[in-house]
Amino acid sequence: MPAPGEPHGIGTTASERGVRVHSTQVVIVGGGPSGLLLAQLLRRNGIASIVLERQARDYVQGRIRAGLLEWGTVKLLQEAGVGTRMMRDGLVHEGLELAFGENHHRIDLKALAGRSVLVYGQTEVQKDLAEARDAEPGAVVWEASNVGLTDWDTKRPTVSYRHNGVQHTIGCDFIAGCDGYHGVSRASVPTDRLQQYEQIYPFGWLGLMADVPPLNDELVYANHQRGFALCSMRSNSRSRYYLQCSLQDSVDQWPDDRFYAELRARLPGRFAERLVEAPSIEKSIAPLRSYVVEPMRFGSLFLVRCVARSARVLAGHRRYLGFGAGRQAAIRRDDRLGRDIPDARLPRHYWPEKGRTRESSGLRIYRVQCVWSAQPALRTGTARS
Ligand SMILES: Cc1cc2nc3c(=O)[nH]c(=O)nc-3n(C[C@H](O)[C@H](O)[C@H](O)COP(=O)(O)OP(=O)(O)OC[C@H]3O[C@@H](n4cnc5c(N)ncnc54)[C@H](O)[C@@H]3O)c2cc1C
Repeated sequence: MPAPGEPHGIGTTASERGVRVHSTQVVIVGGGPSGLLLAQLLRRNGIASIVLERQARDYVQGRIRAGLLEWGTVKLLQEAGVGTRMMRDGLVHEGLELAFGENHHRIDLKALAGRSVLVYGQTEVQKDLAEARDAEPGAVVWEASNVGLTDWDTKRPTVSYRHNGVQHTIGCDFIAGCDGYHGVSRASVPTDRLQQYEQIYPFGWLGLMADVPPLNDELVYANHQRGFALCSMRSNSRSRYYLQCSLQDSVDQWPDDRFYAELRARLPGRFAERLVEAPSIEKSIAPLRSYVVEPMRFGSLFLVRCVARSARVLAGHRRYLGFGAGRQAAIRRDDRLGRDIPDARLPRHYWPEKGRTRESSGLRIYRVQCVWSAQPALRTGTARS
């Protein structure tokens, strides 16, 4: 069994001039949902991998982000063998409320689209995925620093990193860059080989979490002239609320009292009167960006999910949560792993500047408009290519 932080590869481990040398089939950079799920899917297909994550495990598992999973994601997690706790503890929602001033309409997702969504926090998804990887000690290296990619456009790439003061190098067949927009994978590719499309939105989402019962059984999305608001939840006793805010704002400017008063002002009276206040247990501001890059493959390097595509402002991003892309990457294996790899270019509808990010029900477009129409004067984001 490998020592803590020592990767579990398929090849021999040697030491050359103080550098520990390993080998495996796929090195996955980033241990977020897409990286860990990809590792799990590869394992179930008999392919060895090592995940290198910059942060500590507790930090990654405590990061407050997603709370709602679309059904395709739920099915994929079940297929990956990590759905038991999710199906036991998650809350199935068959609809949601859209509010405009004092008016509100329930959208019956189940009746209209035959699908539900599942309330289950990303923190819990991370724990389930990490526990599944625990079955193979060393398959995830937490707190791997100075990750560097070399020869990624050849058939024998290597990835280097430092852990506990020791330098390591892993030889592999493929590298999967699951390290997000700010990671090292995309940054390793010269910009003249990338086609990038980006829209930066001139507002952020201020999120507050509190241990209070949700004000409604289902999520409430509110379009108000004061700005967008969302009433979400993590369980029947924990609520997650969002307010559209200025990018210049800091969390300190939003004490709980101000947050709750503003949320109440953006909701129809029927929901506002049910709002229960309690001290926040987490509060943060997420800047919003739509970002797409292509191609997603450079020789032996694949850019996965938020590395290649980031559209947080679209509530439709839920469909992805890194998972769909994790699956795509898992099936894009070539002769080194035993399967053909299709062209790794993006479907056109992912391109933000074309306004083609869409959902068959039109719901995603509505949700974008919810945000946009709230502050027309702020529609100044730019796309670049
Ligand atoms: C406020 C908020 C709310 C959201 N709500 C939802 C929602 O309700 N539903 C939904 O589906 N999605 C939601 N999302 C989006 C969701 O959180 C992301 O889609 C998801 O985290 C993407 O997963 P990922 O694994 O691709 O990237 P990440 O989760 O960003 O993981 C990337 C990992 O790579 C690591 N890393 C970075 N650089 C390096 C490096 N150099 N070396 C090694 N490791 C590195 C990072 O530490 C990180 O752990 C939300 C996001 C935010 C911010």
